[in-house]
Amino acid sequence: MDIKPVTIILTCLFCDSDLEKAEGKGLQSGDLLKCPSCKQENDYDSLISVAKEKGMEQLKQQVTLEAKKAFGNLFK
Ligand SMILES: [Zn+2]
Repeated sequence: MDIKPVTIILTCLFCDSDLEKAEGKGLQSGDLLKCPSCKQENDYDSLISVAKEKGMEQLKQQVTLEAKKAFGNLFK
């Protein structure tokens, strides 16, 4: 199988903006991350759990695709 590593990107919970460029290096659990676009404060723990869920979805899609490629011709 050829599974690519999944990039976890933090996006604003309110406006879906990319928060990679947001200020606040070395964030910790319980911190708030201010969105540069909508100025809302995002809870870091929620951001991480959402990002992980998205990452898992991407992985699932990749595995499904690879499985179809690998086994698809068995069912012709
Ligand atoms: Zn935002």
